[in-house]
Amino acid sequence: MTTLLTIRPPEGDSYQVAIDGTRFVAPDDRVTAEIATGHLWALPGLADAHAHLSMTSLEDIKGLSEDKMRANIPVTAWAHIERGVLLILDKGGSTDATLITLDHDADLRPYAEVAGAMIHPAGGYMVNFGVEVEPDALVHHIRTTATTRGGWIKIVGDWPRRGEGPINNYPLDILTEAVAVAHSAGARVAMHSMAHSASDAVAAGVDSIEHGPFLTEEDLRLLAGRGGAWVPTIGNMQHWINVLGADSSGGKMFKSGLDRTGENLPLAEELGLTVLAGSDLAIPHGEIATEARLLRDYGLTNRAATIAASSAAYDYVGRPDSVAPGNTADVVFFPENPYNDVTVLDNPELIIRRGTTVHAAS
Ligand SMILES: [Zn+2]
Repeated sequence: MTTLLTIRPPEGDSYQVAIDGTRFVAPDDRVTAEIATGHLWALPGLADAHAHLSMTSLEDIKGLSEDKMRANIPVTAWAHIERGVLLILDKGGSTDATLITLDHDADLRPYAEVAGAMIHPAGGYMVNFGVEVEPDALVHHIRTTATTRGGWIKIVGDWPRRGEGPINNYPLDILTEAVAVAHSAGARVAMHSMAHSASDAVAAGVDSIEHGPFLTEEDLRLLAGRGGAWVPTIGNMQHWINVLGADSSGGKMFKSGLDRTGENLPLAEELGLTVLAGSDLAIPHGEIATEARLLRDYGLTNRAATIAASSAAYDYVGRPDSVAPGNTADVVFFPENPYNDVTVLDNPELIIRRGTTVHAAS
């Protein structure tokens, strides 16, 4: 017994697949049912490449107990699933709490790769958030912890010091060695760069630049050339401009960074750089469609913004990025073609996850 589906991708011809248990198979004479999907457009699932499952909003960065963070995770994880976000990359937190995501029932959470506690030197990030590692201890720290981090290491690249503005947290040579050590342990490195550490991050071989409003054209070329990723988190940057005030020094810096992002996104698309959508707590869990729209508003085409919030992330982490026989039966259907208007990602009509219908709009 298998169930037949018609898959109409945003580009290319429609085709049929069948669901057999949790997997897609080629349609054959075992088909006994059909779900009418030929009038919809299909994606392999949405993806959020900068989530923090242990927290529910940016208010929570002020401090949560370990118990509260652990209690949040099943709830925030499910919020993604029911909006069609079937893959998340969790970019760390104040502790290693998020690592328990990987122990939860795979049917009740998105596919996940997670970073544990965020790494920064004393004074290099919010107080009591993450683990303090001084530059001369960074390589050792990563060598001894990389294999226990859920696939990712999250380093804070820069942070403002009073009277001095943003300062890079780690020198380039140490960062370069730390990244090499992480890679040899099979982990990827993501670096928070809100100011000018992005160029060092790119030079050091960091896999994913988080925020990165001041990436240079040369950085984009280098990152694209070696298959790196950029997660601009526009919603998060807008949030901080609102909080700090557009006329404050921080607000002005973020505003100029957003202006730069608006120039960089079309170039990134032209270069084939992997741009990924990330909600980063400024956008509620599951609502990655909002960031996809912002990426479009800041210069990506509707097509590229859709890919940034869906197949690009699957492709980047090596998961199947298409609906095809042999792959796990994951597919999300939309009423319009997102390559024409990315805002439709906010309105999934049917979500099938591991062969089971999760949510169908009435
Ligand atoms: Zn973040």
